[in-house]
Amino acid sequence: MTSDRQQPKTAFVYSDELSQYQLSAEHPLRPIRLQHMHELMKSSGLFELENVSTPPPRMATKAEIETSHDAEYVAIVEAISNGGIAPIMGEFGLGSSDNPVRPGMYDTTALTVGSVLTASELVTSGAADVAFAPGGGVHHHAMYRRASGFGVFNDAVIAMKAMVEAGLRVAYIDIDCHHGDGVQMGHYESDQVLTISIHESGQYLFPGTGHVQEIGSGDGTGYSVNIPLAPYTQDAAWHAALDEVIPPLVSAFKPDVLFTQLGIDTHFQDPLTHLSLTTQGFNLAVQKLSVMAAEIGKWVAVGGGGYDLSAVVRSWTMALATMANFDLPTEVPKSFTSLEGLTTFDDIPPEPTEARYLNEINSFNTKSLEEVRALIFPKFGI
Ligand SMILES: [Zn+2]
Repeated sequence: MTSDRQQPKTAFVYSDELSQYQLSAEHPLRPIRLQHMHELMKSSGLFELENVSTPPPRMATKAEIETSHDAEYVAIVEAISNGGIAPIMGEFGLGSSDNPVRPGMYDTTALTVGSVLTASELVTSGAADVAFAPGGGVHHHAMYRRASGFGVFNDAVIAMKAMVEAGLRVAYIDIDCHHGDGVQMGHYESDQVLTISIHESGQYLFPGTGHVQEIGSGDGTGYSVNIPLAPYTQDAAWHAALDEVIPPLVSAFKPDVLFTQLGIDTHFQDPLTHLSLTTQGFNLAVQKLSVMAAEIGKWVAVGGGGYDLSAVVRSWTMALATMANFDLPTEVPKSFTSLEGLTTFDDIPPEPTEARYLNEINSFNTKSLEEVRALIFPKFGI
């Protein structure tokens, strides 16, 4: 970090307005998870730390959203949000069970995007060494003129475009269980943004992409990196893949800023996915990202997927503590009462994978890593 590495200036960008709505009654993405997370962070004393600040998010302007989305699509989202009817909304991915429409959706999404812009501006200016906007990241599937996978306006694409405009080279690392396809496509032809996504293989999970062969195009050839892993991959194998690919590539790319999407739907209890990480496995990843960020000097972090509420609130509290270099206690504080059943921050790990599946998982993951080494590493002289 630019200042004292022991006490990085840490901005947490959040307001409860980011959590007080529902996408639909049955939707698996529950924004209320952010309110519970905020309560656990508060109970854990994180907002009393001298090096942690809590700046409020601002709204993104329409012009900022239109840097990365088609104006017709943006206008339709706004019209629906204001109570209008858009018969062609289906063409834009809107009105499905994944991407329901609702009054106010433009405003809550623009505030989410704005929270990430606030974070990236604080980091760009040097006012913060690291800024965490947990409302962001969950829009990582949103495309130029299409809503997808719970995503409407792609906060990460918009914020990184602004940083590239400001002359920064950005390394984007997406550890969500799903491929960060919208972010990849938003910078597919750019050599100023290196996107790396480590995820459950698209052979088994939405959105069906994220194969190693998707390496970027034009100037961006070699700057889109995908690490697809087998279902039921656990902490140790997931970390082996991260270690082999991510630090050497980030080091060779020499970014000015690290931008991380910290989805926690990799968790073994997540209801939508099949990777098998623990909260301590997740937090070890955040610790590794923190080491990279300390070398680079600037770090923007956003949230992402996460559909098991206990995993979300514990993991992102652990992440903020790691960013601020603060040691959490083992036990969840007794003063945290808004969710039942939370005892420790770390999980009791799931049973080890049965041996008969382990070979299949290992050979799948080994093949992915071999392909990344063959297709991407030479571009970076590794
Ligand atoms: Zn996800």
